[in-house]
Amino acid sequence: GKHRHKGTVEDCCCDYETVDHLNGEVLHPILQQLVKTPFCRYYKVKLWCDCPFWPEDNMCRLRDCSVCECPESEFPDSFKPFQRTLSSDDLKCREGKPQAAVDRTLDSKAFRGWTETDNPWTYDDETDNSEMTYVNLQLNPERYTGYNGTSARRIWDAVYSENCPKYPAEELCQEEKILYKLISGLHSSISVHIASDYLIDEATNLWGHNLEIMYYRVLQYPNRVENLYFTFLFVLRAVTKTADYLEQAEYDTGNPTEDIKTQSLMKQLLYDPKLQAACPLPFDEAKLWKGRRGPELKQKIQAQFKNISAVMDCVGCEKCRLWGKLQVSGLGTALKILFSVNDEENLVQILQLQRNEVIALMNLLNRLSESVKFVHEMGAAAEKLVQGR
Ligand code: FAD
Repeated sequence: GKHRHKGTVEDCCCDYETVDHLNGEVLHPILQQLVKTPFCRYYKVKLWCDCPFWPEDNMCRLRDCSVCECPESEFPDSFKPFQRTLSSDDLKCREGKPQAAVDRTLDSKAFRGWTETDNPWTYDDETDNSEMTYVNLQLNPERYTGYNGTSARRIWDAVYSENCPKYPAEELCQEEKILYKLISGLHSSISVHIASDYLIDEATNLWGHNLEIMYYRVLQYPNRVENLYFTFLFVLRAVTKTADYLEQAEYDTGNPTEDIKTQSLMKQLLYDPKLQAACPLPFDEAKLWKGRRGPELKQKIQAQFKNISAVMDCVGCEKCRLWGKLQVSGLGTALKILFSVNDEENLVQILQLQRNEVIALMNLLNRLSESVKFVHEMGAAAEKLVQGR
C-alpha cells in the first residue's frame, strides 16, 4: 500500500490524493527532464562560507572553507598556512567528507538575455556576480553528506526560533503560519533526500535508502508531511501563476536543440491540461494580506525571510550550503511572485525575474516533487519497517 494522507492540504486548494496523482503522472516526469537541460542545470551561486552570525567562533575564517575540521592527513596543502595561526578548534566547518564538497566541473556555460534584478525577499545580492561561481547541479545531487551536530542544529534553531514567531500555532495569523510551514516543508524535503540517498556503508561506498531516517525525522510527525505538501503546492502555484511570463522567457544557452527542448518542457509543465483540470489553483494567495495589518505584515515577513536567507551562508557543509541557498532563493522567488505582484493581469509587464531565480524555482519544485513522490511510494514501507520491530 501507498502512504496516504486524507483530505485537503491545509490552507491549499487540492487534496493529497490529487497531488500524489498529478505529481506521479505529470509533474515529476516533466520536472526530472527539465532539471537536466543546460538552462536548468547550471546555477550561479556565491559559495563562500560568508557568515554574518556567530563571529566569535571564527567559523568563516577560511573564506572558501570547503575542508575544515578534518584529520591532519586530509588537510589540503592550500590550507596549510592557516594551521599555524588557527588551532583546530577554530576550524568549525564540518566538511572533511568528500561527499560534502561541491564538484565544480562545468561542461558549458552561455548565459544571455535575462535581466539582473535583486530580489527584495532574499539577503543575497543577486545582481552581484563577481563573487559567484557556476555549479553543475546534476553533478551535485542533494543527499546525505554527513553534516550534523551542533553546526547543523544551530542553523535550524536559528531559522525556527529567531525568524519564525514563537507563539503557539493557533495564535499565529495566516501569513505568519505560512512562513513557518514553508521552512518546515523545506526541512522535511531535505530530510527525505537524506533518507532516499544515504551512505549506507562508507567502506564500500554503498548508497541506498534509509527508511528509518525518513520515519523518525518526517513521517512520525504528520505536520511535517503536511508542510511538505503545502510547500510543494505553494511553489507550484508560483510557477503556474507566472506561466505567461515563463513561456515568453529566453532559454538560450547557445545550444538550439537543447534550448528548444527546455522551452517545450516548460510549456508542457505550465499548461498541462490534467493539472489545470484537477488543481487549477494549488494555493490561493489572494486570500492573504487582506487585513488592516497587511502591508506591515508583509514587511515583517520579508525581513524575517531575509534573515533566513542570510543564515544559509553559515551552513558549514558546502554541498548543503549550495542546496540550502538554492532552495531558499527558490522560496524567495515564489514569495516575490505571489506577494509582490497583485495585478495578475499585467504580471508579465510588472514581474522581473532573473534567470538564476527561475533556475532556483524550478529546481526547488523538482526537489519537492521528488520528496512528495518518495513519501508517497516509500512511506508505508517505512512505517511497516519501524512498527514491525
Ligand atoms: P535536524 O534535521 O537537524 O532537525 C533539528 C530539529 O528541528 C529537530 O530536532 C526538530 O525539532 C526540528 N525539525 C526537524 N524537522 C522538522 C520539520 N520538517 N519541521 C519542523 N521542525 C523540524 N545533511 C545532509 O546530509 N545533506 C544535506 O544536503 C543537508 N542539507 C542541509 C541544509 C541546511 C540548510 C541545513 C541547515 C542542514 C542540512 N543538512 C544536510 C543537515 C541535516 O538537515 C540535519 O541537520 C542533520 O542530518 C541532523 O539531523 P537531526 O536528526 O539532528 O535533526
